[in-house]
Amino acid sequence: MRITAAVMEKADAVLARRKIELEDVELEGPREDEVLIRVTSCGVCGTDKGVIHGLEPFPTPGVLGHEGAGGVEEVGSRVTMVKPGDRVMIGVPYCGRCRTCRRGEPRYCQDDMGLTFSGYRLDGSSPMRRPGWEKLAGRFFQQSSWATYTLALDRQLAVVPEGLDVDLTGPYGCSISTRAGTVLNELKPYPGSSIAIFGTGGVGLAAIMAARMTGATRIIAVDEVPERLALAKELGATHAIEHGAGTVAELKEITKDQLDFAIEAAAGATPPVIPGPGSQRPGGREANRPTDFATRRVLLRPARAGG
Ligand SMILES: [Zn+2]
Ligand SMILES: [Zn+2]
Repeated sequence: MRITAAVMEKADAVLARRKIELEDVELEGPREDEVLIRVTSCGVCGTDKGVIHGLEPFPTPGVLGHEGAGGVEEVGSRVTMVKPGDRVMIGVPYCGRCRTCRRGEPRYCQDDMGLTFSGYRLDGSSPMRRPGWEKLAGRFFQQSSWATYTLALDRQLAVVPEGLDVDLTGPYGCSISTRAGTVLNELKPYPGSSIAIFGTGGVGLAAIMAARMTGATRIIAVDEVPERLALAKELGATHAIEHGAGTVAELKEITKDQLDFAIEAAAGATPPVIPGPGSQRPGGREANRPTDFATRRVLLRPARAGG
């Protein structure tokens, strides 16, 4: 079928901004485990931005978008989890066959990179083409949802319940699950613990809301933008720190120098805030990007918070 998609073209240099234009392209019908979705909304995430600027890998020409939501139009022959007419949000893809998927941890799927950044199905095919049959990388996170219609795997979908605006649900597939998952599945704050969240964009706010569901009693939002901090408090932060030279001192005071958990939610941010040795209690944990984890740094530039 003919659809409209935002097609990203190759740039002249590796780190140059890639050009994106709306084009009419061809989309195949769904394979047996795929679902055709009429996309009604899609988020714009820091990862999309990273790809556009050449900081993250993705083939060109291709179509981005990985926080899509919309209505089911058609389902593949073996799909039983959704049906035409359902309103769905598109989540993170997983193979469903590897060891970690079978162990019930699809977020650590061993085919993760192939499913998210290769641009194609795992067999190398793509359902999107330009008229004239030039293949497009049309499987970003197995959804490429910057398009009027797209295909997704049945297992990466969730049906949106009545009463919830489907067009607000796309971010559940990335920014919300990313940091809510960090809090609920990895850090698991225990009763009475303290947790600091650096950056209160979509990702940081998700961490705050998740922390509110745990026994943590000090949920500390750190950001440079007062309006964001106000929203963070509305959504569950018990304390808010306007970031500056006094950030570390304020953190120490609020936590009596015993910060249990810290989350970086301001992707690629500078300048760094370095709490330094002793800013967390012994055994405290941070959830940062791996490189930052090694140096125990917490980075901050709220204006660029991902999600
Ligand atoms: Zn898997
Ligand atoms: Zn994302």
